[in-house]
Amino acid sequence: MAIKYGKTQVKKMVDAIDQDHGSAEDAALAALAAAEVVLEERARFIVVGQLCGTKETPHIAPSDPQAVKVALGYYSTEGDAHTAAGSLWYATSTGDRFHVWTLPMFYGTPADLHSTQKAKYAAIEAKAKEKSDEKMATDIVKRREAMEERARGGKGSCVICTHQPYDHVSEGNGKGKCVVPDCPCTKWTERTK
Ligand SMILES: [Zn+2]
Ligand SMILES: [Zn+2]
Repeated sequence: MAIKYGKTQVKKMVDAIDQDHGSAEDAALAALAAAEVVLEERARFIVVGQLCGTKETPHIAPSDPQAVKVALGYYSTEGDAHTAAGSLWYATSTGDRFHVWTLPMFYGTPADLHSTQKAKYAAIEAKAKEKSDEKMATDIVKRREAMEERARGGKGSCVICTHQPYDHVSEGNGKGKCVVPDCPCTKWTERTK
């Protein structure tokens, strides 16, 4: 069977039926309402297919009227749906070939689907922003560390006078004399390690 029901679903049906319903109609309505809930719980996948080739016509375009579409119905597990899709894919009896899809069921209105999509996009955006914020924070730390390193006369400072690159007047290629008062350095030379 394509749809598999468990104890939970049986209990829901029993609870709906096993009551003092005023009439048989009331009992039937309660059972139908419960059945709808149970179906949504257990009918999780659907298999759809489209004819894409026959013995006579090996390639049928999706827009061709001959390319019939079929929805095979509900399956509780993705595995069962895949198995059914696999059987639909090729028919040894006729030579028909189908494009097949195993689709998760969405129970709700189009508006429900749109808001689900919207929430998904918002989550993706929030994650991207979080990542870029993290990168920015890391970059700031890196820049500050590089600045502190230079200030200590380390990597990125001047080998001759230990002053900063921006203290040296540019004469092309970043070379130049140091403009810090009383600094005798006449040529910017970067400390590279
Ligand atoms: Zn210098
Ligand atoms: Zn200097």
